[in-house]
Amino acid sequence: MAQPQLVIMGAPGAGKGTQCAKITEEFGIDHITTGDALRSNKEMDISDMDTEYDTPGEYMDQGELVPDEVVNAIVDEALSQADGFVLDGYPRNMEQAEELEGMTDLDLVLYLDVGEEELVHRLTGRRLDPETDEIYHVEYNPPEDPEVEDRLVQREDDTEETVKERLRVYQENTEPVIEHYEEEGVLERVDGEQSPDEVWEDVKATIEDAA
Ligand code: AMP
Repeated sequence: MAQPQLVIMGAPGAGKGTQCAKITEEFGIDHITTGDALRSNKEMDISDMDTEYDTPGEYMDQGELVPDEVVNAIVDEALSQADGFVLDGYPRNMEQAEELEGMTDLDLVLYLDVGEEELVHRLTGRRLDPETDEIYHVEYNPPEDPEVEDRLVQREDDTEETVKERLRVYQENTEPVIEHYEEEGVLERVDGEQSPDEVWEDVKATIEDAA
């Protein structure tokens, strides 16, 4: 059987990162995440692309989308090297969805469904350990080691103001993409407000059914 080719969708904070780590381990496929790829290339010079700002970081720090041209190129390159994948953070709008159709076929689009109030709570409380890249939450998942607690940092775009803007931008751009995949019959919804283990049970079963 060919390796699964998936897109995972859900608002920022819906738990995509947590589930993707489990998916890649279970199915042995690549995790392609545009958010991480862009964070590693925040200072990349894109001034020759006729964009408003000269680097991806300037868009990201304001919660705006990085121009399609930049993101499409990142995804195209990563897909060409993958044998099975879970694509995370892309497509974020209909233009990207159309571009993706020209690059590859999809077995399944998984949608992690989480309400807005819960999303804001999750994101503003999220903290990162810069030494291990481990993710914590001040309330749901604080570190046991006080030394780790002291060095935790907040992602620059996890402040309340930027979070609300990211959720607004997400909804505005991504709603049509979700409707599009729903009409095509490839979208499956999973209740993302359950515990991470319960979400994983549903996610795993849904992928196995689609493959
Ligand atoms: P994320 O980690 O997925 O929440 O992404 C963080 C930021 O990276 C977003 O707020 C956007 O500025 C940028 N970004 C990630 N994926 C995309 C995408 N597919 N299209 C445009 N910008 C993106």
